[in-house]
Amino acid sequence: MLKHRTIVVGALLVLITLIGVSAPAYTYFILAFIFLVLQFYGASYIQSEFHLQAFCRSRTAEKVVAITFDDGPGISTENVLNVLKEENAKAGFFLIGKNIEGNELLLKRMQAEGHTIGNHSYTHNFWYDLNTATQFYRDLKQAEEQIERVIGTRPLYFRPPYGVTTPALARAVKKLNYHTIGWNIRSFDTKLKDPRKVMERIKERLQPGSIILLHDSMRGAEHVLTDLLQYLKKENYKIVGLEELSQQRAYA
Ligand SMILES: [Zn+2]
Repeated sequence: MLKHRTIVVGALLVLITLIGVSAPAYTYFILAFIFLVLQFYGASYIQSEFHLQAFCRSRTAEKVVAITFDDGPGISTENVLNVLKEENAKAGFFLIGKNIEGNELLLKRMQAEGHTIGNHSYTHNFWYDLNTATQFYRDLKQAEEQIERVIGTRPLYFRPPYGVTTPALARAVKKLNYHTIGWNIRSFDTKLKDPRKVMERIKERLQPGSIILLHDSMRGAEHVLTDLLQYLKKENYKIVGLEELSQQRAYA
């Protein structure tokens, strides 16, 4: 796996070589360009594990899958919980700290019905990735306190907003001892408005041990979930919780 440190060391070695052989100026530009492209790729794709270790799927041949919802509690959380209850399925919810106040009952219901709650930052703002390690630490702690206040235990799962990771975020996550949980199936349910298209994307990418990313902040999320549960049943997939799939504890 391509890691941030490997790239930095590799680029430095190439740079020293270029200086050593008095390489022409344009080769430095090529090196800088490749370096920046790799940095961008590594920061944007959580599955690259470029800056931090992330559990994105289980390497198993067993037909098991975990369903996760980001950005709640939100507009569809209650409906999603109703569908999950009817179908007796468990899911993981990565919550935004600032959305929790006023929605305490939804969190208590998640807990009572056996779902997993994880930290998905407090602010989840657009410029989130530009935070320093101290700012990340404070933000994660603030979200954590909101969750703990309601469910009485400290979450150990973290999912980065937009799946973007940086060296500063990696430092904060390490300090807080979080397990970073990613995904291998991004449903694009926030972009593809048609639930059939969302399902098509998931079907194409489905494999044993997958983690599917959905959003309960989207209106109609329960419809996608209903279709998904039906499809998984037809394909003989068993829906498991994140703790079972990752073999890592969700709470301190
Ligand atoms: Zn998010």
